[in-house]
Amino acid sequence: MCARLQAALSKLTVGMLQWRFDALLQAGTHRLNATYIVAGLILCDIVPEGILMANKKKKAAKAMKAIKVTPENKCSLCTGTKCCQYITLHIDTPRSMSDFDTLLWQVSHRNIQFYKDADGWFMLVVEAACEHITETGQCGIYEIRPMICRGYSNDECEFDSSAEEGFDLFFDSHQALDDYCRKRYKKWDKRFKKLAGK
Ligand code: SF4
Ligand code: SF4
Repeated sequence: MCARLQAALSKLTVGMLQWRFDALLQAGTHRLNATYIVAGLILCDIVPEGILMANKKKKAAKAMKAIKVTPENKCSLCTGTKCCQYITLHIDTPRSMSDFDTLLWQVSHRNIQFYKDADGWFMLVVEAACEHITETGQCGIYEIRPMICRGYSNDECEFDSSAEEGFDLFFDSHQALDDYCRKRYKKWDKRFKKLAGK
C-alpha cells in the first residue's frame, strides 16, 4: 500500500476507532470488542502512527539492553551527553541565615541549583550546554578540550546513575530551599517581621 494512502487511511481509522470506542463505552459493551478493532487494523496493515512509534521505542530499548556497555562505547551510547550540560562552581559552606538568603536568591533563577556532596563541598550548578557538543553528541574540540574535561572519567558517571543520588543535600527550587531554611532556623521569619516593623 502506498505511504500516502496508508497515512490517510490511518487518520480515518483513528477517527473511526475513537467514535467506535465512545459508542462501545456508551453502550456498555465489553472492551474486548475494541481490542478486535485494533487487531483488525494491524492485520490490514493500517496501524496508527502512535502505535508504530511506541513499538519503535520498545525495540530500541530492547536493543540497548542487549549491548554490553564498556568504558570504550559508553559515551557513544549516552544520549544527551549528560556531563557536558552544566558547569559547577565551588562555593563557601553556607552557615548563617544571610548565607542562605543569598542561596535562595540564586536558586530562584532558572537553571540554577546547588548541592552538598559526600565530601562536604557545596557546589553551585548552572545548567548550560557546552557549545562544543556536536549534533551527534561528540566533543567538537576533542583534541584541544580543556584539562577539566580530560580529567573526567566515565568509569562511574551520570550515565550509570543521576548525580543527585550521591548528594547529601540538593536544591533546585526556591520552595525546596525555603522549606529547608524554615526547618533549620526556628526564627527564620523573625527578621522579616522586624523589617516590616511588626
Ligand atoms: S562521561 Fe558519562 S555522562 Fe559523560 S558523555 Fe560519557 S557516558 Fe555520558
Ligand atoms: S569541551 Fe568537549 S568534553 Fe568539554 S564540556 Fe565541551 S563538549 Fe564536553
